[in-house]
Amino acid sequence: MTEEIFRGDSYAKSCEARVEAADERGIRLDRTVFYPEGGGQPGDTGVLRRADGAEVAIIDTLKDRETGDIVHVSGGGSAALAPGDAVVAEIDWDRRFRHMRMHSCLHLLCAVVTGDVTGGQVGDGKGRLDFNLPETSLDKAQITAELNRLVAEDHPVAPRWISDDELAAQPELVRTMSVKPPTGAGQVRLLEIEGVDLQPCGGTHVARTGEIGRVEVRKIENKGRQNRRVNVVLVD
Ligand SMILES: [Zn+2]
Repeated sequence: MTEEIFRGDSYAKSCEARVEAADERGIRLDRTVFYPEGGGQPGDTGVLRRADGAEVAIIDTLKDRETGDIVHVSGGGSAALAPGDAVVAEIDWDRRFRHMRMHSCLHLLCAVVTGDVTGGQVGDGKGRLDFNLPETSLDKAQITAELNRLVAEDHPVAPRWISDDELAAQPELVRTMSVKPPTGAGQVRLLEIEGVDLQPCGGTHVARTGEIGRVEVRKIENKGRQNRRVNVVLVD
């Protein structure tokens, strides 16, 4: 299994790594800072650079469901890399940081809007959550104000681990009905926004809510009888 540096350090922009396999499906490394698509957050893009200057552009990152390996999807030229090659793996940090800001923002949205989350997506500079709510009482301006208040309060954001059994005893922690938390490994990763939100999440996040910057709810859509889709954008 690929060592996942981003799990412990979401601010790591690059790392040294060794190529374990390179084929038409993509490149596998022994360790990486590239986040693989999952939990509503897109896979990272960036570059793998050999010491002699040869570069391979990475256009997406996925998780191999069978092996658990992280697959760096190349935009062509992966033949330039061979098993054993030493590379520097570097993500497109500006894009990833926008993902981190939006992902943390969507956790704030979970705290502001009550109702089970039925789906969601982090995008580049924008994001959305679907809530299982029968009424159309959601107010754009009010939710925007609440989100920006929580941003301005600059709450610490940090991962925390609990056992599968502890999670089973606290089902209220699971807000997202469409994505089951990854239990089975004995431990579940929670994301805590101190005093605001606590739920299972494997994504990458900012360290404090102040880093999210100003946000705005652009529109609230009706997607089915009980489904309310709240769309948020980064303003700054
Ligand atoms: Zn999350």
